[in-house]
Amino acid sequence: MTLIDIEKSLSIFENKNNTVQHIYDSRYCNFCGACIHSCPVNAIEYLDPQIIVNEDCIQCGKCLEICSQNQKVRYSKQLIDIERNEQIKEFHPKIGDVPLGSFKEIWNGFSSSRKTRNVTMAGGVTTSLLYTALSENVVDAVLIPEFTENKQNPRGRIISNPEELLQSGGSKYLPTLSLDKLNEIANNQDIDKIAITTLPCQAYVIKKMFLDTQYEKLVKKIHLVLTLFCGSGIPYRDDVELFLKAKGVIESLSEFKVIRRRERRIWRINPQDIERYVFITKDGKEVSISSSKILRCKTKPNCSTICPDYTGYFSDISIGASHISANIVVARTEKGRELVKLAIEKEFIKTKNFSKINNFLINFMGKNKRDLKRKSYHKFLKNK
Ligand code: SF4
Ligand code: SF4
Ligand code: SF4
Repeated sequence: MTLIDIEKSLSIFENKNNTVQHIYDSRYCNFCGACIHSCPVNAIEYLDPQIIVNEDCIQCGKCLEICSQNQKVRYSKQLIDIERNEQIKEFHPKIGDVPLGSFKEIWNGFSSSRKTRNVTMAGGVTTSLLYTALSENVVDAVLIPEFTENKQNPRGRIISNPEELLQSGGSKYLPTLSLDKLNEIANNQDIDKIAITTLPCQAYVIKKMFLDTQYEKLVKKIHLVLTLFCGSGIPYRDDVELFLKAKGVIESLSEFKVIRRRERRIWRINPQDIERYVFITKDGKEVSISSSKILRCKTKPNCSTICPDYTGYFSDISIGASHISANIVVARTEKGRELVKLAIEKEFIKTKNFSKINNFLINFMGKNKRDLKRKSYHKFLKNK
């Protein structure tokens, strides 16, 4: 299916009569929100979490150009070279065939704060790096995904107080429209520099925005981009609805609000099993389901069907779960390396040696995207 989906998505992007509605309707959207900023006539609406192009559309094609699932820029010669990254072989021969992208330095680490580790999915490094960035005045604010009250899906939230970070720790594997906050950031006089925590696709679209003067005002305050490794993408609203109906939990998704909670367990293999989404029914009953189950409920194509990036190689720092209670931390730029080093110096994060399990996990989790999607993209482009 992969090559068929990739051909289909690329043909959608090439057809000048199309809009991002075709990307959403084909289930390839990842809800980044970039297209909303691109539209000259404000014809794109976000109805949590659906993308709708209304009748004001003038078919200018700008939304398809910026869409984070449009891989044209990613597969330019220059970016293929970045992805290939020969340097990793010198650093660590055992993970030599993973397309990890360019990097300056790589660590295996965890947050030194137990409180942080208790609210985050793996080692808590992302939260501790953001804490460092705010408390050491590297940035004035951070953009993070968070569940707001009565929402079925998380939304972007801007935070300036480092103490508020703990309320938002943990990964959110549901549609998160984070980039809709770019206007707010651009117009906020109190923000000069912001750090954005997001997914590989959104880091890619931010990179594209930096390359296009149309988005200059929107992106010039972005000082750091932190991405989380992303293997399976995010399920669509109807996937979640079907899944919950099959479990006998709901009649209609609109009846529910979602909260996140972590369950304490002595032993866990997959950290996603202890992160729970709690659905509260009309009659007040609580139903708690692990985020891994929600993530795996997808029944049709989703954004990961055509997305080739696992580690987020357009970010300043990429972070993934390296094994139980620890993170692999990849600093890709000098700014990214400085922040990680500052966090280590201030003892907000601790590091430990790479082990065989880290290599295994990185290879295993990157395999699907590497082997299927990348090869399919290259094959398609070669045959054109
Ligand atoms: S007007 Fe242009 S940017 Fe807006 S939805 Fe239509 S094609 Fe997309
Ligand atoms: S992936 Fe992003 S840019 Fe593309 S349609 Fe979805 S929200 Fe819009
Ligand atoms: S698989 Fe992950 S990185 Fe790729 S488009 Fe989906 S959410 Fe984004």
